[in-house]
Amino acid sequence: MAFHARAQERTTTITVLPEVIIQLMTDTDFEKLLQNLKSCTLCSEHLPLEPKPIFQIAPSARILIVGQAPGTKAHLSGQTFNDPSGDRLRSWLGFDRETFYDSQKIAIFPMGLCYPGRLQKGGDKPPRPECARLWRHQVIPALPNVQLTLLVGSYAQDWQFGRGRVTDRVRHFRDFLPRFFPLPHPSWRTGLWERQNPWFTEIVIPALRQEVARALNVPEMPQQSVQTQNH
Ligand code: SF4
Repeated sequence: MAFHARAQERTTTITVLPEVIIQLMTDTDFEKLLQNLKSCTLCSEHLPLEPKPIFQIAPSARILIVGQAPGTKAHLSGQTFNDPSGDRLRSWLGFDRETFYDSQKIAIFPMGLCYPGRLQKGGDKPPRPECARLWRHQVIPALPNVQLTLLVGSYAQDWQFGRGRVTDRVRHFRDFLPRFFPLPHPSWRTGLWERQNPWFTEIVIPALRQEVARALNVPEMPQQSVQTQNH
C-alpha cells in the first residue's frame, strides 16, 4: 500500500474552474488525512475481515482511478488492483505495474476502501456506502493536480452522475471529457462484454490512452497489446 505525501508546505489558493476555489492542504493536513484514513473503523461491524483501507494518494497525482472496493487478494496484499482485474485495467491503460503504482502520478481511491465481503449468490458485495460519504469530499480536494478521473464501474459512475447504464456511458465517453472517463469494471466477466462490444477495443481504448497521455503530460502511452486474459 502506498501512502505518499510530498506536497510543499503551503496555504495558497488556486482556481480550478472559474467558480471553484480550492484551498490547498498543508503537509500536516495531508498527513493527518492519511492517518485518519488508515485508522478508520467506521463500518467495521459490517465487514467480514478487519478494516484495512486500501488506496494510494499523493497531492501531485494527475490521474485518479475510482474503482469499486478491494477484493480478497488486494486485502491480503494491501495493494489495490493487485489481482486479475488490475491486470486487465493496466492492459487497457497501457500501464506496466511500475507506472500504475506510482502514487506521485496515479491516485487510486475506490468507492469503498475495505473488503466488503461476498454475496451469497457469488461475487463481492457492493462497497460500503458510508465510506464514500465519509471520505470522498475530504480526499478529492486533497488531489488538486488531477487532470483526469477514471470512473471504473457502476458505483463510481453513479456516485458522480446519478444512476445510468455503464455500457451507455462507456460508449459515449466523449460526453464526459476532459475531466472524466467512464470505464466498465475490469472483472473476468468483462472479457465476454469486450467481445460483444468490439467498439470498446477499437475506439474507446485508443482514446483512453490518448487522454491518459494528456493527463500525464507525455507524448503517448506505450502501445501494449489490448488483449486481456480471461480470468
Ligand atoms: S470501508 Fe471505509 S468507512 Fe468502512 S472501515 Fe473501511 S475505510 Fe472506514
